[in-house]
Amino acid sequence: MCVVVDANRASVVLGGPVPDDYKPVIDWISRRGGRLVYGGSKFKQELARVRAAALLVQNWRSRGLAIEIAEAEIAAELTVVETIGYGSDDPHVIALVRASGARTVVTGDADLMLDLTNPRLVSRPRAKIYRSPGHGPLLAHTVSCGVLSGQRRRRT
Ligand SMILES: [Zn+2]
Repeated sequence: MCVVVDANRASVVLGGPVPDDYKPVIDWISRRGGRLVYGGSKFKQELARVRAAALLVQNWRSRGLAIEIAEAEIAAELTVVETIGYGSDDPHVIALVRASGARTVVTGDADLMLDLTNPRLVSRPRAKIYRSPGHGPLLAHTVSCGVLSGQRRRRT
């Protein structure tokens, strides 16, 4: 569902104080019906490292605004991603996007952007990259994330 934050950006986006570039992301999740989707050991290691980020995600989680995708679901998609082939060093983010249905990703990694916008790796709908406030319109639910259709995904 919704928005995925690359582990490499997690401390900057979630650890506060939030840079102007990412304020729309925090605002969308906190106040405007958005959701963070997260999972995977790399992201969780970042949360363990940056206390403010861990507390924010915990708060969102308690309000249903952050959804953790099960490790097994990510691992299953990772197998598919490895079969298709990828160029970045972040196949877990691609797997998380595929497993969750989230299609907006906050990242500054050019290789990961290429992978995420490769329709063989992510499609229906294609992924969008959030980098700056001008990308605010990308902060939205999609048919793939289940929120628009009223479906509820399994939570961990
Ligand atoms: Zn959504």
